[in-house]
Amino acid sequence: MRTKLIAGNWKMHGSKPFIESLMKGMTEQLDANLKSGVLVCPPTIYIPLVESLIGSHKIALGGQNLSEQAQGAYTGEISGDMLKDSGCQYVIVGHSERRSLYGETDVLVAHKVGKAIESELTPILCVGETLEQREKGTTMQVVQQQLDAVIDTLGIDALKQVVVAYEPVWAIGTGVTASPEQAQEVHSAIRAHLRDKNAQIAEEIKILYGGSMKAANAEELLAQPDIDGGLIGGASLKADEFIAICKIAG
Ligand code: PEP
Repeated sequence: MRTKLIAGNWKMHGSKPFIESLMKGMTEQLDANLKSGVLVCPPTIYIPLVESLIGSHKIALGGQNLSEQAQGAYTGEISGDMLKDSGCQYVIVGHSERRSLYGETDVLVAHKVGKAIESELTPILCVGETLEQREKGTTMQVVQQQLDAVIDTLGIDALKQVVVAYEPVWAIGTGVTASPEQAQEVHSAIRAHLRDKNAQIAEEIKILYGGSMKAANAEELLAQPDIDGGLIGGASLKADEFIAICKIAG
C-alpha cells in the first residue's frame, strides 16, 4: 500500500522572519500521528534554518534543484551531496520552471535524477504538458517522453528510488487545477506505462499531483486511486492551508 506524501515547494519565496512564522504555524498544527509524509523544499540558503526549526517534528527537507555534476568548478551550483549533507532527503528535479526558464532538457533532467540517487536523495521527478500540448492531444506522448528519458539513461530500476510528480504546466501557479478526472487519467496512464516495463515498480512508485492544489480541492484529488500526494507551490506558503492539505491526506 502506497503512503501519501505532501510536499511544499516554496520556490524563491521567503525571508528569515517569514520562514520562522511559517514553520511555527506548521509545527504547532502538525499532527504527530499523521500517516502521510510531509516535506518542505525551501530556497537552498534557508535549508539550515528550516532544519533547525523542524527540530523533532516529522517534516522532511528537500532541495528544489541540484547540479548534474558531483563537484568542481561550477560557480553557483549546489550538488546532491551538499543537499544531503545539509539534512535533505529529497530534491525536486525537472520542475517545469527549470525546464522552461532555464532550458533543462529531458536528458539533463535524467542526469540530475541520477546524481540525486547517487547522493542518496529521493528525486521528485516533475513531468507535465503545456496547455498547447494538451489541446493538441499530445499529453501522454510528452509525459512518456519525459519519463523515458530517465528510464533510457538510468534504467527502469532507478525508478525504485524516484517519486514522480505529474504537474500540468497550465495548472501551475494559475489557480486552474486539473479536475480529479483529468489528473487521475494521466496518473493511471503513467502507471500503465511503467507497468509495461516493471509491474512492481509501477505498483509501488508514488505519483504526486501538482498544480494549484489547495485545501478546497485536495480532498477530491487525493481520493483518486493513482494520486499519492501533492506537490504544492502557492498553498505551501500558508501554514493553515498546507496543514489542512496534510490533514486531508491523513
Ligand atoms: C509547483 O510549483 O510545483 C506548483 C504546483 O505550484 P502551485 O501549487 O502554486 O500551482
